[in-house]
Amino acid sequence: MSATLITLQPRPIDPSVDHEIQAIVAGETTAETCNTDLAASPWTFDTRPGYGPGSSMGDVIPTGAPRQGQLPAEYREADEEELAARIVAAKQTLGDRVVVLGHFYQREEVVTHADYVGDSFQLANAALEHPDAEAIVFCGVHFMAETADLLSRPEQAVILPNLAAGCSMADMADIDQVEECWEQLADVYGDMETPDADGLLPVIPVTYMNSSAAIKGFVGRHGGIVCTSSNARTVLEWAFARGRRVLFFPDQHLGRNTAKAMGVPLEQMPMWNPRKALGGSTEAQLEDARVILWHGFCSVHRRFTVDQIAAARAEHPGVRVIVHPECPMDVVDAADEAGSTDYIRKAIAAASEPTTFAIGTEINLVQRLAAQFPQHEIFCLDPVVCPCSTMYRIHPGYLAWVLEGLVAGEVHNRITVPADVADPARIALERMLAAKP
Ligand code: SF4
Repeated sequence: MSATLITLQPRPIDPSVDHEIQAIVAGETTAETCNTDLAASPWTFDTRPGYGPGSSMGDVIPTGAPRQGQLPAEYREADEEELAARIVAAKQTLGDRVVVLGHFYQREEVVTHADYVGDSFQLANAALEHPDAEAIVFCGVHFMAETADLLSRPEQAVILPNLAAGCSMADMADIDQVEECWEQLADVYGDMETPDADGLLPVIPVTYMNSSAAIKGFVGRHGGIVCTSSNARTVLEWAFARGRRVLFFPDQHLGRNTAKAMGVPLEQMPMWNPRKALGGSTEAQLEDARVILWHGFCSVHRRFTVDQIAAARAEHPGVRVIVHPECPMDVVDAADEAGSTDYIRKAIAAASEPTTFAIGTEINLVQRLAAQFPQHEIFCLDPVVCPCSTMYRIHPGYLAWVLEGLVAGEVHNRITVPADVADPARIALERMLAAKP
């Protein structure tokens, strides 16, 4: 009897983190998740005062954070297939009247309907390519929709499918706290608006893109600038050419990692804790400072540790470890490379030989990259499946709701930045675009 030869094909990788979480909760896999409540739909949590299950669950949500009203039952009760079919049908009806943007960290079930997938700034720019679209549906978090509103035409409606999709890091830099910080710094440095004999201001405020429009407006009003994780070094060089020091918010890790790579000593990077007088530093420390780091962080990227990198290296000799610069400094130092989501994606795409990658960034992006590049072994450094809880708020049910609303002539969840904030915020963004390495 001759044996039948069976060619084993590699099993396609399912890019859906949702499916994996459902499998974990059903006991079909030995993988772990940080919270089994993730298997429920976000409307279960929308009305609660918190970010919901996932990486930001332990952070304190500001009392004024927007809440999402109850999603109509027809969307809550529809299954995955029905919602997908309704989204496709609504998009077909709307045609060029709508552009759907999907952040890299969105769930696969949402990204699959996006006209563009990218990081927050890439997506805001993608919207610029559609000046005739009536609506821009931003599947991301609140500050991203605000940025798209800043850059889009006034008559275009920027829509955030779930108003409860904030960002815990952006929420850590509250405008009242930042104004108070500025006043305290003026007590230490004196006149903040007049350059010294060398033409330098005492402090240049720099905000990461992951901040509210109010913070971007503050920065624009005080001679400052916005940065992304891709251009943080160029922006800091711009700021040091104009000021003695930088006040960097909200992400202490991006600020510290970038300034350290530029040679700024750690002792000249005091942290500003808004709950303490002078941020917790002495006047002498603030006088000596080069970069004052706001006490903010991303709960997703803070989960990555040096021990995880050591475990990855032990289990996968030759592994290439790439982490996002929002990770803590010791993790960035222990990795082989650090870079933005776009850097990570391009680094994997450019690898010509089959390679094992351990990636330190949000799980939805890592899982999608693993599916997209099956010639490589790609895994998340964090063995626990724990997506960004605020990104997780955008469920296909909300996307179907806002798109079918547009079909019916109703605009749900429009995000509008008031003109007195938008004008200086745009100046801060324009400075960033003009900054050259
Ligand atoms: S991954 Fe971090 S920075 Fe990005 S939206 Fe989530 S909490 Fe905010």
